[in-house]
Amino acid sequence: MATILDGKAHADRMLESVRLGVEDRKAKGLRAPGLAVVLVGDDPASHVYVRNKSAACAKVGITSIEHRLNADTPQAVLDALIDRLNADSEVDGILVQLPLPKGLDSKEALHRISPAKDVDGFHPMNQGLLLEGLPGLRPCTPSACMSLLAHHGVDLKGLRAVVLGRSEIVGKPMALMLLEQHATVTIAHSRTKDLPGVCREADLLVAAVGRPGLVEGSWIKPGAVVVDVGINRIEDPALGQRIFAAEPRKLETLRSKGAVLCGDVRFGEAMLVASAVTPVPGGVGPLTIAGLLTNALMAANA
Ligand code: NAD
Repeated sequence: MATILDGKAHADRMLESVRLGVEDRKAKGLRAPGLAVVLVGDDPASHVYVRNKSAACAKVGITSIEHRLNADTPQAVLDALIDRLNADSEVDGILVQLPLPKGLDSKEALHRISPAKDVDGFHPMNQGLLLEGLPGLRPCTPSACMSLLAHHGVDLKGLRAVVLGRSEIVGKPMALMLLEQHATVTIAHSRTKDLPGVCREADLLVAAVGRPGLVEGSWIKPGAVVVDVGINRIEDPALGQRIFAAEPRKLETLRSKGAVLCGDVRFGEAMLVASAVTPVPGGVGPLTIAGLLTNALMAANA
């Protein structure tokens, strides 16, 4: 049986380190880091994320300042708010919660954030620094995954790593960070031929696709480390039957509650083949906020 890589426990370690960093600033007479969160519209999932972010800020002593705008806010108003936050000396980090409502250009908004305050690490300047292997604010989910792997002593040097998914938020930056640590990296995606065969070559498999249970146990090399970034909510009992064959408890939750969260990897099958696996929920999910607050502290200290 594989080891379960506990993301919640690692997120708590990361948050404790941020809390100590904030205390350290206060001991030096500096103010708490300030994180501005811009939430446009009323997407229920975004509201939950923003609430969780604010709660995590409160725990570690970061001042969180929420800015809520209506869904029909014009781009110019959003841009003007970002300009104001860029100029505000009390604000160290700016986060624009995605997705933005239709009619707003998320690239334009993200590119407008000052690179020094870009705690999501999505600005082209910070992406360029990552590409060059230079320090900068890096995307939270992949950098927190790297921190989890380091904590568990996964030696990436020379390892064959496959990253499934090529998004700018997870797949591409994850691949660059693994490359920086001397892994031999393949990025696989929706057009990759023989996906199972490519995955089977991986000593480290990172799945960031958003397809429930895509990765079967037979796609995993025996002894591989598996990081499952996907978070999928499924309600379809037939899909559940197919992907939870080795996870009766998930199937039971789906039956009793009508929905269940799962990753891109069939966790029960992976546990029988891999050496270590992140669960969903409780794996990569909690790490992202910890990565964000780590970035907020870094931006304040820069
Ligand atoms: P995205 O939709 O931007 O990118 C998905 C990628 O998967 C694309 O590059 C696409 O080429 C690839 N893909 C799609 N279908 C595929 C298939 N059948 N076979 C192979 N590749 C395929 O998604 P994203 O923003 O990178 O997020 C991916 C998943 O990770 C989602 O489930 C998302 O909810 C989750 N996520 C979790 C966290 C977290 O905190 N744990 C953070 C970000 C994203």
